[in-house]
Amino acid sequence: HTAEIGLIGLGVMGSNLALNIAEKGHRIAVWNRTTETTRRFAEDAGALGAMIVPCDTLADLAAAIRPPRPIILMVPAGAVVDEQIRALRPLLSADDILIDAGNANFRDTMRRFDELDGSGLAFIGMGVSGGEDGARNGPSIMVGGAPSSWLRVKDVLVAVAAQYRGEPCVAHLGSDGAGHFVKTIHNGIEYADMQMIAEVYGLLRDGAGLKAGEMARLFQTWNGGRLESYLVEITASVLATEDPETGDPIVDVILDRAGQKGTGRWAAIEAQTMAVPATAIEAAVAARSLSAMKDERVAAEALYGAPVTAFSKANRRAVIDDLESALYAGKIAAYAQGFAVMEAASREFAWGLPLATVARIWRAGCIIRSQFLDDIARAYDEDAPANLLAAPRFVKAMQDAHPALRRTVARAAAAGIPVPALSAALAYFDTYRTARGTANLIQAQRDYFGAHGFERIDAGGAHHGPWSG
Ligand code: NDP
Repeated sequence: HTAEIGLIGLGVMGSNLALNIAEKGHRIAVWNRTTETTRRFAEDAGALGAMIVPCDTLADLAAAIRPPRPIILMVPAGAVVDEQIRALRPLLSADDILIDAGNANFRDTMRRFDELDGSGLAFIGMGVSGGEDGARNGPSIMVGGAPSSWLRVKDVLVAVAAQYRGEPCVAHLGSDGAGHFVKTIHNGIEYADMQMIAEVYGLLRDGAGLKAGEMARLFQTWNGGRLESYLVEITASVLATEDPETGDPIVDVILDRAGQKGTGRWAAIEAQTMAVPATAIEAAVAARSLSAMKDERVAAEALYGAPVTAFSKANRRAVIDDLESALYAGKIAAYAQGFAVMEAASREFAWGLPLATVARIWRAGCIIRSQFLDDIARAYDEDAPANLLAAPRFVKAMQDAHPALRRTVARAAAAGIPVPALSAALAYFDTYRTARGTANLIQAQRDYFGAHGFERIDAGGAHHGPWSG
């Protein structure tokens, strides 16, 4: 019994997380379905090899860990996780903890908690963000499970997590599916962030006629201000990168068809299920789906002609000057939506999600890491606002930035350049801050065809319109 912890699945994420754990001084036993991979992993671990116990069988793995055993599963989400749990159960004893660190759907995680309930085994559903580099050098870690389980793995997780100015980016967020739910919303927000950046790129490329190198400098400048974030930083770096084959900017040779693995879509689905508007996230998911319809888009352009009208030279400077603020305003609205979804889920599943802490553990390690999240953490510390758009520190920011978002969306619409996420963010903001909306007409229509009744502005109770006569 030499290892403190075990890990199953030495793929991209698992191998890097195992090295990270070993490096922090925690001896780790590892097993992989393909044994050759386990052997090679241990051989290639160099000096860290002394902290790694490679195992050929699951029985060896169980025997190599000091009970009560924490075992991390880093395998593809879905059936594989259930298979691994089934295979492990006979080898484990009471108080061992299984930790699913993959991108599970939180509803599967809830089911697994139910299935293991009463078995004596503990379970943790853990969202890990930051990709390969995060796993190796410090990811953001979102933990769901019993507080007693968290306390038993806390030391290792704090040691391997990213740090933001000395604070570890890991926290226990709530029971059962809380960690995987928060990871799902993280990915939904990530989709929105990426999409809004891509829309700004589209305005610069097709509207303002900028070359990739010029755009790289712009994003780099923005990264020095309030938009400072990993995604803006890598966008600048991507735009500055040449294709070694052709010498062209690499973005110019990459096909405009984006993939997705489903977590962004889950965020949109859960938002809809809870009736929380998350339109910027939904627009970003839909934009990926539309991007995948390359052949249809090519055919449609032949039918309608290319939509784009370039901005006039005189207009170009004003357009570019507005983009930083437009992106900032869009970001506020998109994050307001993501946090509102978490707030609703927290109530529905009684998680008590600490939203300031969620923002705090996203400040480093994960893909959406940014300075902006520090402001969100403070906003939740200060006021517990009903919505980020109502938090005093964002009211001021939004008052300053929304006119630029408005002009940007208007110019994009006039030029025929699609900005679905930015325009969804603007429409959300405009709807949210409109005291007298238009649902009075919807209510009248519903009462007209379905006798659903309506409330009056000047009297209580349910009323009907005089339609039937
Ligand atoms: P990889 O494809 O790199 O690795 C998958 C691992 O799972 C391999 O070790 C593979 O073993 C093992 N595996 C696959 N199928 C089975 C099976 N049927 N039975 C047993 N083991 C199996 O995946 P990643 O490391 O990228 O992803 C792992 C998890 O982490 C996923 O849930 C993913 O969504 C999540 N994740 C990924 C991120 C990323 O940036 N890549 C970021 C955050 C989370 P073998 O060597 O035998 O094939």
